[in-house]
Amino acid sequence: TQQQQQWQKEIKWNADGLVPTVVQDALSKEVLMLAYMNEESLQKSLESGQTWFWSRSRGELWNKGATSGHTQQIESLHYDCDGDTLLVKVRQNGPACHTGAYSCFYREGTAHASEAAAQQEDRFGPLSRLEATIAQRDAERPEGAYTTYLFEKGVDKILKKVGEETAEVIIAAKNRDGDELRCESADLIFHLMVLLREQGIPFDDVLKELEFRHRKPVKKD
Ligand code: AMP
Ligand code: ZN
Ligand code: ZN
Ligand code: ZN
Repeated sequence: TQQQQQWQKEIKWNADGLVPTVVQDALSKEVLMLAYMNEESLQKSLESGQTWFWSRSRGELWNKGATSGHTQQIESLHYDCDGDTLLVKVRQNGPACHTGAYSCFYREGTAHASEAAAQQEDRFGPLSRLEATIAQRDAERPEGAYTTYLFEKGVDKILKKVGEETAEVIIAAKNRDGDELRCESADLIFHLMVLLREQGIPFDDVLKELEFRHRKPVKKD
């Protein structure tokens, strides 16, 4: 077995020898679930690169997805300031929740998104929500959804759509048709985001790239 790393000594196991572990989608950043690890499940997680937990209800070690196939590939593992909580960022295969929901947190306690929350959201909120919706469609593949259709058809279909929408953007701009350009731009952004998801590229990587360029002296081409 893997030797215990120095950082693991920082972990404060609770009275039951467990530590709560937040699981986050590495691509969409959505919080997927919360589960408990004990020392053995942490070791198994580190060794296998998949999430292992301690099931309190079943009283046994639990490899997430062992029966459902909805496994989690670990991208990184963090521990918090006082060492009493873990955070694992994962590539989620299928839904994370045993109910079939993409995230365990699909139930909203507040009546609906509060006025205050809506006002706090920046103007890129729709883009964030689109990213989350695409991730949800990829994980759950709900029948009848257009995004499901794209994922089921596969990369060639998605690429064809990106090509078409690009051409439509060009035509709309050539015609100086603002309404058309607005719609076709939305189509292109959507299909591009689906493509990024299909290719396993986090949208954050694109944002980071833009930020990186912003910091460098501008080079025109
Ligand atoms: P799985 O690990 O996905 O093969 O599911 C095996 C069992 O673990 C399920 O029947 C549930 O009892 C439980 N389970 C799976 N996913 C979750 C979850 N996100 N939260 C709580 N329990 C879960
Ligand atoms: Zn803490
Ligand atoms: Zn759940
Ligand atoms: Zn279009």
